[in-house]
Amino acid sequence: MDKVYDVIILGAGPAGLAAGLYAGRSRLSTLIIEKGKDGGQIAITDEIENYPGQMVEGESGPSLIARMTEQAQKFGAERATDTITSVELDGEVKVLKSAKNEYRAKAVIVATGAFPKPIGCENEAKFIGKGVSFCATCDAAFFEDFEVFVVGGGDSAVEEAMYLTKFARKVTIIHRRDELRAAKSIQEKAFANPKIAFLWDSVVQSVDGDELLSKMVVKNVKTGELTTIEADPDDGLFGVFGFIGYNPNSKLFDGILTLENGYIKTDENMHTNLPGVFAAGDIRVKSLRQVVTAAADGAIAAMQVEKFINE
Ligand code: NAP
Repeated sequence: MDKVYDVIILGAGPAGLAAGLYAGRSRLSTLIIEKGKDGGQIAITDEIENYPGQMVEGESGPSLIARMTEQAQKFGAERATDTITSVELDGEVKVLKSAKNEYRAKAVIVATGAFPKPIGCENEAKFIGKGVSFCATCDAAFFEDFEVFVVGGGDSAVEEAMYLTKFARKVTIIHRRDELRAAKSIQEKAFANPKIAFLWDSVVQSVDGDELLSKMVVKNVKTGELTTIEADPDDGLFGVFGFIGYNPNSKLFDGILTLENGYIKTDENMHTNLPGVFAAGDIRVKSLRQVVTAAADGAIAAMQVEKFINE
């Protein structure tokens, strides 16, 4: 592709789409490249209740993101579905390469987000899609009236556990400490939910089963005691959902951009260590990773691109 865009935005989550909206409104020629579905983590989140003004009955992550996509496109942001495999970011024209295409721009906004951390137990990879999942919105319906376990104690684990109670007959949260990390308001709802039980001070050591997940060993981290949990014989299986945090999608930028624990370092105006290269959203070193902060990052990054190009 010979066209040199003003800006290429890598990633179509809330940060990338907000950047696309602001860049488009500023009449910058804009291309958003996304390898999968729009939305990033929001695409797999059932309930968003803390995005300001977002009180629409029945609103889910996917419906919110669909409107963000439409809005960015309305202002002229172009779209490509592609997987970028290498980048050249230090010249005046930045080059992003996939297996078949080369994309060029005067500026780049990296909004590649983060992906769920594996639980880290024995046999985990073997049972992904066969009982082990990282997406309640995607897989909850498979566990209608079955028993499920949720690993983690943060906002994601507790919120997704509550969502799972709409399907599963019982949801047990397995947490490695005796106190949740989730916000107090979220905890209160979970403690009041009769379908939710807790297994404190515990981690999953291994998962097992014939074809589908039907057995796991849980270790009490204080006593070292191992407990084997088996599926009810009438069920023959149960589910384990992992929500123990995220890993940043920054491999492409290793050795190119300054990273801290895998997250891209920027200043408060989203500038990375390279001129014309900005980062926005969960991929950035920051204190609060939320839709609202991702969208704000995207807006700031796009306005900084405009300034960079004009200068
Ligand atoms: P998080 O806040 O980092 O929580 C991760 C949880 O997993 C913690 O409870 C942690 O235990 C546990 N954990 C981490 N590594 C583990 C391991 N190896 N084995 C077992 N347990 C492990 O992650 P998150 O809940 O995904 O949230 C990420 C960010 O998104 C946060 O800033 C959160 O506030 C935000 N978020 C907000 C909302 C909302 O406001 N509606 C919803 C979802 C996410 P410890 O507590 O012992 O460290």
